[in-house]
Amino acid sequence: MSGEKDHIDYAHELDVAIKPDSTVPLIGKEYGYFSGPGVPLFSIGGGFLRQALQQILVSFHARRGYFIAETPTLASSELFKLSGHMDFYRENMYVFNIEDREFTVKPMNCPYHLLIFLSHLARFRNRVKLPFKIFEMGRVHRYEPSGSLYGLLRVRGFTQDDAHIITPEGEAARVISDVFEEMRSLMELVFGLPIDEGNVRLRLSLSDRSQIGTHFMGSWEEWSAAESALEEIASKIAEKYKVKVSRGVGEAAFYGPKIDLMMSLRGSSGVKEWQMGTIQFDFNLPRRFKIYDYVKEIYGDMNVFIIHRALLGSIERFIGGYLEHYKGRLPFSMAPLQVAIIAIKAGGELDVKVEEVSERVKRELLSRGLRVAVKESSRTGLSGDVRLLESSIKPPLIVYIGPKEVRESTLAVAVYDQRTGRRSNMSVKYGETLEELMKIIEEQEKSVREASGVSPRIPADLSHMV
Ligand code: ZN
Repeated sequence: MSGEKDHIDYAHELDVAIKPDSTVPLIGKEYGYFSGPGVPLFSIGGGFLRQALQQILVSFHARRGYFIAETPTLASSELFKLSGHMDFYRENMYVFNIEDREFTVKPMNCPYHLLIFLSHLARFRNRVKLPFKIFEMGRVHRYEPSGSLYGLLRVRGFTQDDAHIITPEGEAARVISDVFEEMRSLMELVFGLPIDEGNVRLRLSLSDRSQIGTHFMGSWEEWSAAESALEEIASKIAEKYKVKVSRGVGEAAFYGPKIDLMMSLRGSSGVKEWQMGTIQFDFNLPRRFKIYDYVKEIYGDMNVFIIHRALLGSIERFIGGYLEHYKGRLPFSMAPLQVAIIAIKAGGELDVKVEEVSERVKRELLSRGLRVAVKESSRTGLSGDVRLLESSIKPPLIVYIGPKEVRESTLAVAVYDQRTGRRSNMSVKYGETLEELMKIIEEQEKSVREASGVSPRIPADLSHMV
């Protein structure tokens, strides 16, 4: 064993997922803990992370003009026959019968989003403005062979930050370039991952012409036209953002070519390239859902495209890659435990005042919607306790409260800096409302708030976990 941790270890330390690819005998002697295969179980820490991420992503998209939907996991197979999935994607789908009717677990959200668009066209006619953008944190299930499953990176059940944009043909290039700008804001402001030549490549994923009609839906002419249009758009984006483009023959979706965001992240086995977001160009589903006809009827002579896009791609895989890159440290807004309060004993006993102040700080932070824990420690045990925190749940802020701090009405705060990988120490005054500490916290939340308009505050007392 190399001793190098990977994302499964980091996720476990943060309580983000419980050994996602195996059966873990954690409960006791009688029961194993069954999760999977390929369906990671997000534990309490993971639950907070996902909820915070959901709030950020929903608000991020709503501010950019996307409507928000939530569509069912279970679908009648008819819908996926109409979309072509049953012909071109069947081997990846879970299909079964109930009461003589065939159902499928949705492998993609697109058909539902198109139905929503069509129902709005039917009800509100040309008051529906194009481009029409619809977003969902969409949980999908796809079959993957059991041998290929791995941690959070290769799973059978995952959530996409998925959206579909129905755009007039003439606006498609601008819409795609706007989506790339959204990708950049999200990666840089929310996750601190820069988009530049050093770590990002665009992969133009094309069809394999020999498989048109079998693996790729539509005609040779349609694929040619779509691929050359997308190629031009990709090279403009690459020029603007100073990133490279490469071609991936046979990597297209079955309904159209796409641009994939390939990002280099540090991992347990060195720097590795990950497929993150994707922007896909589709000329097939609009035809199958008769969208061309409805659009012509309502808006007059107009051609539209559907753009499928996800900025992070699979949330699970993104979290896995992110944890390896930042060695298990999540941004403040998403960290399961945000603030650890260490109450320091003088001698063998915890001073009543220290206990009082620690509890008060905890209550105040909880009332502000933060996730906190109090841990008692002693002068001699302190460095060991901090080491343990740093190698387990890794709170972005550690607040030390001892007799000296109580005497001086101060808090000693150690703030983790994701960029430098170190903590900086400062001392802040506290009064009735912990204003100075809250300023540090708001600073931590600033860039997420700037990009998404929210600072998710989901409170919890996680003292049992430290
Ligand atoms: Zn789609």
